[in-house]
Amino acid sequence: LNHDKDIIIVGCGAGGGTAAQFARKTDRKTSITVFEKGKYPQYSKCGLPYAISGRIPNVMDLIEFSEDWFKKSRIDLLLEATVEKIDPAKKIVYARKNNKIIEKSYGSLIICTGAKPSIPPIKNLFIGDKLVDGVFTLRTIDDVESLIPYVKKGRQVVIVGAGLIGMEMADNLHECGMRVTIVEALQNILPNNLDEDMSKTVLEGLPDDISVFTNHLMTSVEHDSGRIKKVIIKNNETGEEKTINADLLIISTGIKPETKLAEDIGCELGVTGRIKVNNKSETSIKNIYAVGDCTEFVDFITKKPVPVGLGSIVVRQGIAAGINAAGGEYSLPQGVLQTATSDFFGMEIGTVGPTPASMRNQRYISGKFQGLSLPEYYPGGKPITIKVFADEKNGKILGAQAVGDKAAQRINTFACAILADMDVETLRKLETAYAPPVAPTLDVVTLVCDIVSMKIKRKRQ
Ligand SMILES: Cc1cc2nc3c(=O)[nH]c(=O)nc-3n(C[C@H](O)[C@H](O)[C@H](O)COP(=O)(O)OP(=O)(O)OC[C@H]3O[C@@H](n4cnc5c(N)ncnc54)[C@H](O)[C@@H]3O)c2cc1C
Repeated sequence: LNHDKDIIIVGCGAGGGTAAQFARKTDRKTSITVFEKGKYPQYSKCGLPYAISGRIPNVMDLIEFSEDWFKKSRIDLLLEATVEKIDPAKKIVYARKNNKIIEKSYGSLIICTGAKPSIPPIKNLFIGDKLVDGVFTLRTIDDVESLIPYVKKGRQVVIVGAGLIGMEMADNLHECGMRVTIVEALQNILPNNLDEDMSKTVLEGLPDDISVFTNHLMTSVEHDSGRIKKVIIKNNETGEEKTINADLLIISTGIKPETKLAEDIGCELGVTGRIKVNNKSETSIKNIYAVGDCTEFVDFITKKPVPVGLGSIVVRQGIAAGINAAGGEYSLPQGVLQTATSDFFGMEIGTVGPTPASMRNQRYISGKFQGLSLPEYYPGGKPITIKVFADEKNGKILGAQAVGDKAAQRINTFACAILADMDVETLRKLETAYAPPVAPTLDVVTLVCDIVSMKIKRKRQ
């Protein structure tokens, strides 16, 4: 039998599921097999926080493509089947299901093994190899199901890590009536997304009953008969320690890529410790692709490798891998824009471009504008703050951050401008749609570019 065209996909998260879907669209006939070690077919991890508060009523609603969908698409989905070994010379995958080894040949292989939560070194966090009762990470449907019984009005939750997921969890657990404390080791909340001043705007918008400790490290936890009771945090500057009661502890401090299978077969890993891929999602081994949180790609602006960790990027990589593995042609742009958004406590935020930390090495000019989403005379206008970064020499837009009304839509305009290599001088003249109940004559998107453009001109004089 000739297996040259057969496609095997390892992992059925956003990456694997999308790759399968697009491989099938590209080749209606070829054999496609997906091995997934978990119990569920592709579901949205991004929706998990909202299934805790009940905004999404049933966690199973997050399943985007059911087993039936895979069947109808003639994709063999094997759940609770773990790929244990790949032989790239013979082009065979070995998976374990129900304690039996399944051997399957491939023509193209797509590795989409994702990541698991990364857990910082906090003392007493584990009993044996299990997290103390009442301590959770959030990555799977099972996590949500085991966490929900701990969510009770009036109870105290501590969230360690003030990234997007930590903030979304804070919002959803606050909505459930829990008393929320957020602990962040760095100087600001959302340190990977926002500059200090923009992060402060978010901090000021949080409800008064949320306690936030930035620049604090969680050092240890205390438990009573195995159940979490307290956490101990330490001020990074003064060394002062503080004890906080906790009925529930959520750890949202990033992810650790699952790269073992790829490493075992000699797939090249990059500087971030993830599988190196190009804009076709190809790895260093012919006919082997990789997609998702287990990979790194380059940033569109800095051209430096960055870890992939956003569903928006993962899905696009999945499209590329699926089409290319099935014999089509598909290339992504030469780098990721890292366009991201979220909404918590009624505040929408949006970002695009390199992270604030990597921006520090770039010679840029930034400008900020605070305005309203509607003309001043029209009731109901909401505040919106936008910060834009442009190259000091040529005014090319490098990135933008927004907090407030329709932040994501506005950031998408900047994403489009970056992809098109646009400068602030061009974007400031963008003719945006205007009608009093919808938007002002000059949108904040253009007004903030006016500021940056003027600053650049002044610098040149
Ligand atoms: C709570 C939360 C909220 C998020 N919110 C957003 C958001 O709002 N916007 C955004 O852009 N991104 C968001 N993300 C990130 C986004 O969800 C991830 O980038 C994306 O889901 C990663 O998809 P993936 O397929 O790479 O990995 P995963 O979803 O981790 O899938 C990998 C799959 O591979 C399986 N697997 C691993 N090893 C094997 C093996 N050996 N054999 C068989 N199967 C295997 C695993 O069981 C898993 O199902 C969020 C993430 C989380 C956790």
